[in-house]
Amino acid sequence: MSDRVTATVDLAAIRHNLRQVRRRAPGARVMAAVKADAYGHGAVPVARTLEAAGVDALAVACIEEALTLREAHIRTPITLLEGILSAEEANLAAYERLQIVLNDFWQVQLLESMPASASLQVWFKLDSGMHRLGFPLSAVPRLSAVLERNPGWQFCGWMTHLACADEMDNPMTQRQIEDFDAALLGLPGARSIANSAGLLGWPSAAQRDWVRPGLALYGASPLPGKVGLDLGLQPALTLTSRLIARRDYEAGAGIGYGSAYRCPEPMSIGVAAVGYADGIHRSLSSGAPILVGGQPARIAGRVSMDMITLDLREAPAAVVGDEVLLWGAALPAELLAAHAGTLAYELFCGLTNRVRFRYV
Ligand code: PLP
Repeated sequence: MSDRVTATVDLAAIRHNLRQVRRRAPGARVMAAVKADAYGHGAVPVARTLEAAGVDALAVACIEEALTLREAHIRTPITLLEGILSAEEANLAAYERLQIVLNDFWQVQLLESMPASASLQVWFKLDSGMHRLGFPLSAVPRLSAVLERNPGWQFCGWMTHLACADEMDNPMTQRQIEDFDAALLGLPGARSIANSAGLLGWPSAAQRDWVRPGLALYGASPLPGKVGLDLGLQPALTLTSRLIARRDYEAGAGIGYGSAYRCPEPMSIGVAAVGYADGIHRSLSSGAPILVGGQPARIAGRVSMDMITLDLREAPAAVVGDEVLLWGAALPAELLAAHAGTLAYELFCGLTNRVRFRYV
């Protein structure tokens, strides 16, 4: 594969970010979210790095993602955040020693119908206000009874998920934490509340038995108005392309599809070999910042499938062959995401299989 679009993943940055997570949540065990191909960073190399750095568990969304890690000989405990969907999945989870996050009683019934020899590891997910997955808090007494009648199950603990942890002035988070605590008062079992935003913004969520960061491990910030570097994190992924053309145009010239950008004056337009088929969202058209050969430039006009056009007025020295930086430590993904009206999460997960990955 050529180096037209390259994602360079700095595994040392991921190790650094894990250390930062541990510093923010001293005493907590870390369950690293490596779902969605480690947020587009590559599940197996990231999981191997985290395993070697002593992470306590890995979290994936579904069984297929867990099997990919087991096939790569990852031995660290793996948690299935969405639980199981069928008896077949439950059997596989038991066989592969996966931790199943249960969120509904039909799943409990399904596991109770399995042979007693199956070694099941279960979490209970409580809905403390997110209203997506989870047992209502009022189900806690019934869940305690489930544990009592299934002494062979290995109980991992109670978890909940925060709905608004990225909004520092939203009282919802404190309410969720208090309701979760109150529902479990006096009961045995580990507790887990915080994702990255909970970990970075809410010490009372972080100070639990387990934290479950995803985004922070990749060096991006979940908190609005902040980038990962502001929080002591190092962006792990640098996305680069190449300048493949540069032309001068008259004032008024229309650039790209729909002539959506009009040159306001005589100016140079560059073309970089990266487009929405590589994961650069079409919503990133006109105005989004990037760097060409280290100089500032802006996307001018619509993103095409394989190319973007660039306003090079601030990059007079840019020449064909120059490196084009889409995001990385020098240009945080959070900034580009803000231009597209989205989050770094979606940019990361949107990288396609046309992007060449390098691990350093
Ligand atoms: N915990 C659960 C239940 C999740 O669904 C996720 C991701 O969506 C995470 C933790 C990690 O979240 P983040 O990447 O925001 O840290």
